[in-house]
Amino acid sequence: MSREQVSDATQISETDTVSETGEQIPDTLPRALLHPRPDNSVDVIVIGAGPTGLACGIEAQRAGFNSMVIDKGCIVNSLYNYPANMTFFTTPELLEIGDIPFSTAHQKPTREEALEYYRKVTEHYHLNVRQYQKVETVTGQDNNFQVTTSDRLNRIFDYRARKLIVATGYYDLPNYLGIPGEELPKVFHYYREPHPYFDCDVVIIGGKNSAAIAALDLWRHGARVTLVHRGEKLHGHVKYWILPDIENRIKAGEVAAYFNSSVEEIAPDHVILNTPNGREKLKNDFVFALIGYHPDYDFLRAMGIELSPEQCRPVCDPITLESNVAGIYVAGVIVAGSKTNEIFIENGRFHGQQIAAHLKTKLEG
Ligand SMILES: Cc1cc2nc3c(=O)[nH]c(=O)nc-3n(C[C@H](O)[C@H](O)[C@H](O)COP(=O)(O)OP(=O)(O)OC[C@H]3O[C@@H](n4cnc5c(N)ncnc54)[C@H](O)[C@@H]3O)c2cc1C
Repeated sequence: MSREQVSDATQISETDTVSETGEQIPDTLPRALLHPRPDNSVDVIVIGAGPTGLACGIEAQRAGFNSMVIDKGCIVNSLYNYPANMTFFTTPELLEIGDIPFSTAHQKPTREEALEYYRKVTEHYHLNVRQYQKVETVTGQDNNFQVTTSDRLNRIFDYRARKLIVATGYYDLPNYLGIPGEELPKVFHYYREPHPYFDCDVVIIGGKNSAAIAALDLWRHGARVTLVHRGEKLHGHVKYWILPDIENRIKAGEVAAYFNSSVEEIAPDHVILNTPNGREKLKNDFVFALIGYHPDYDFLRAMGIELSPEQCRPVCDPITLESNVAGIYVAGVIVAGSKTNEIFIENGRFHGQQIAAHLKTKLEG
């Protein structure tokens, strides 16, 4: 991989020099850039352009700081990867960031509407967003951090910032079952849409909202659905309007369900269940293992952020959200560690204001 300094669409190689006026002067011999490019150096870098990261970028900007938001995918990448036809649990005003109103035709927004909303907010604030750049390393210390990213072409980009806000979410890393056959191509950890599973035998593993929603959607679109959950009933967090629907489908025998059960093994044409009545072999075409997701703990640890022993919560000041590493803040769902149901868009969207208030005391004067 070649190491390059890159600015916006223009890629400046080590063999180029930048004049005082910012023009590129090609050199004949390779040499290092003498000065970092001005637009690669900002007050605040936000890692992750989810709803929280965007809110952090906005609040830092509103507080008068020059900020950049970097995401390895598109903006609100997690929402983009939600089930295609999903409707939010939350009413639109609770998803708002930057005081920009979000109104929708129905009581709850659709994924499409939310994607549109966050695009418009990003445009409105002219946020400096770098999409499709994965943050690979963070080095340096308070007031002088270096962030290295790589893009889809494996090009490397270097940035500098006085402060960092980490808002990397949890939806990229699924929890795995660790059972034989989980690596088969018929096994998924994300549910997108029902059509490909029409007239197929589908097993859904899990007992929370994602599993219940996928089971209902697949059944309504002609799949033969079996839900397998290790608990004795569906989880208490399943939304009150989803629970009776799935429970009634199970009672009617329209969705088969195994409680106090687990999938022991996945084979190309069947699965083996461990049930209270012993082992059972089920004919099977596809498996959705929807048992949750977790933050990238290694990424946090690599920056020196300490995690609590059991729930892996980043050590941070609850008011300022500054972590144990001076100058590095944490925001959004990662603040809750493995308890990903404690922080969601509704409450994580306020983290930007908390952090910006502290940045003002640190970066000003
Ligand atoms: C199906 C589903 C429905 C939901 N419905 C609701 C709801 O109705 N209401 C609600 O409030 N919440 C809901 N949630 C929860 C909500 O999606 C999350 O709480 C929220 O997305 C967390 O926001 P965040 O900004 O902290 O993280 P995320 O939205 O996950 O954003 C993190 C971003 O960081 C990026 N990133 C990660 N690592 C790197 C890296 N190394 N370099 C660069 N970028 C990186 C990711 O690409 C991602 O874009 C739902 C979740 C799911 C799965």
